[in-house]
Amino acid sequence: MDISIVIPLLNEEDSLEELTRRIDEAVRKIKKEYEIIYIDDGSTDNSYKKIVELKEKYPEIIVIRFRRNFGKSAALSAGFQKAKGDIIITMDADLQDDPAEIPNLLEKINSGCDLVSGWKKKRYDPVSKTLPSKLFNYTTRLLTGIKIHDFNCGLKAYRKEVIKELPVYGELHRYLPVLAHWQGFLVDEIVVKHHKRKHGKTKFGARRLFTGFFDLLTVLFITRYHQKPLHLFGLLGLISISIGFFIDLYMAILWFQGHGIGHRPLLLLGTLLIIIGAQFFSLGLIGEMLISSRTKHSIYYSVREEVE
Ligand code: UDP
Ligand code: MG
Repeated sequence: MDISIVIPLLNEEDSLEELTRRIDEAVRKIKKEYEIIYIDDGSTDNSYKKIVELKEKYPEIIVIRFRRNFGKSAALSAGFQKAKGDIIITMDADLQDDPAEIPNLLEKINSGCDLVSGWKKKRYDPVSKTLPSKLFNYTTRLLTGIKIHDFNCGLKAYRKEVIKELPVYGELHRYLPVLAHWQGFLVDEIVVKHHKRKHGKTKFGARRLFTGFFDLLTVLFITRYHQKPLHLFGLLGLISISIGFFIDLYMAILWFQGHGIGHRPLLLLGTLLIIIGAQFFSLGLIGEMLISSRTKHSIYYSVREEVE
């Protein structure tokens, strides 16, 4: 199998027929063997029925139907597990991503990339979406050091090694390029065409502004400190305890000199900092314990090549 096209969808009944037809056209042109994996993420419209109908005409279709809505990350994850292709392409189901870009993505992968992300340079979304998105991309670029413009583009292509190694849970689908880059994969981007949503409406509201940044924190933490939590918590603990120690030392000196310190707020602060510091330390140690008990099963590295 050459290509697996993984498409998560939630209530997109009106787009599916045109989408399937256009994918089929695009892939046939370049004469590749392919499969389309639709993941129905708990649709309440006729999306599932529609896909089953389409499957009669397009036997390349595979469909996974979730019992309820589990979110885009879960849907992608299920699709990735099912995918048999050497290259996996993900795409939104709402026709905003253009199937005609598939050959361009493949070309970029074949030039040596492991993950190619689309960049919706000219975007057809309301300002309420594009503005937060700009901020989100800017911050992510700044904090992760990865030079791509559009982390959250639905249209992406992966070599199969990439998806077999990446964890996609929660809402981490926005950060797949970050996780891949951290694992040592080559990540790049190409400019892709973007279209207005024709049918239905967007599934992500303003809430994602907040949750997106929580996820960024998670990603920064798991990429940098996943294997060594004590390095982070230990440092925070050390800083907090040291400051607390010197404050209380100063208090002790005053006390020995005969000054009353019972009414000094500074005493409280010093003690508080020492307690917080000790808590950071214990948190780091518990983290280390979790890792060491798991490490037997998953030692953390990623192999590019092996010659015997
Ligand atoms: N989607 C999904 N599960 C969800 C939310 C969205 O499978 O819980 C799908 C949705 O049907 C679409 C893609 O993810 O195919 C992107 O969603 P949407 O177009 O609403 O996002 P936007 O383009 O507005 O960022
Ligand atoms: Mg969309």
